[in-house]
Amino acid sequence: MSPRRFTVLIIPEGSHRVRRFNFKRSALYAVAAIAALFTIGVSFLTYDYLRNDLDRSELNRLKAENRSQQKELHRLAAVLHDMRQEMVVLAQNDAKVRVLAKLSKPKSDGLTGMGGPVEGRAAESFSSLQREIDELRQAIDLRRESQEEIQGFLNDQKSLLAARPKGWPVRGWITSNFGMRRSPFTGQRVMHEGIDIAASTGTPIHASADGIVIRAETAPGYGKLVVIDHGYGYKTYYAHASRIFVKVGQRVRRGERIAAVGSTGISTGPHLHYEVRLNGVPVNPRKYF
Ligand SMILES: [Zn+2]
Repeated sequence: MSPRRFTVLIIPEGSHRVRRFNFKRSALYAVAAIAALFTIGVSFLTYDYLRNDLDRSELNRLKAENRSQQKELHRLAAVLHDMRQEMVVLAQNDAKVRVLAKLSKPKSDGLTGMGGPVEGRAAESFSSLQREIDELRQAIDLRRESQEEIQGFLNDQKSLLAARPKGWPVRGWITSNFGMRRSPFTGQRVMHEGIDIAASTGTPIHASADGIVIRAETAPGYGKLVVIDHGYGYKTYYAHASRIFVKVGQRVRRGERIAAVGSTGISTGPHLHYEVRLNGVPVNPRKYF
């Protein structure tokens, strides 16, 4: 059996007075319990304090990270803004070129007139950046389409210019114009579907535009005849030649020698009968000189 009461004696050094304390056992238990609770309390507070301290430093770190991300977001927004401005300038140039080329107005890309100073806009967010990127991408697609269209137009123009008859096919002088005239053979009024250019036999005849030889033969009335198809509805006829230097299917360039002046077929003397036909209809070749 443990005792019910305790006595603690305290004997200070160099003194004769002895202090005596009497405890009940229950009191001793109470003291022990209080000490234990106190220890637990202090431990808990210490733990809590340390944990809060960790949280605080994590919070500071996250705040700093957030600030730098916000800065980066603003920087990207500014870059995007510059790109958008450049795109607007490109779109304006594109529109000018289209006007020059007489092409239809380009589709609106919604970029022009937008933008404005980057500081004045609502706080940038990833979703607004994404929207701007999408708009830019759409604008780039439209510009590309437009550029391809312009390029196609210019290529067509270039081919058309090369295909359109231009200049004199032979050095000489005009002895008969295009239009109604009295036939030198029958005396009746007939349509003269070309012009006659007099030159001495053997004078070189040149193609008046790029094209493909579709006839190189002797034809009734025409005598030795060369016909060139230039595309775009244009064909040219060179008649009464003394010699032919090209073959059917041959590709010729403007200025290339194709035949020599003669007086074959129905002719009163050496000359070139030159016709320009547009979509099968004879037109006045002088319009193409
Ligand atoms: Zn003629």
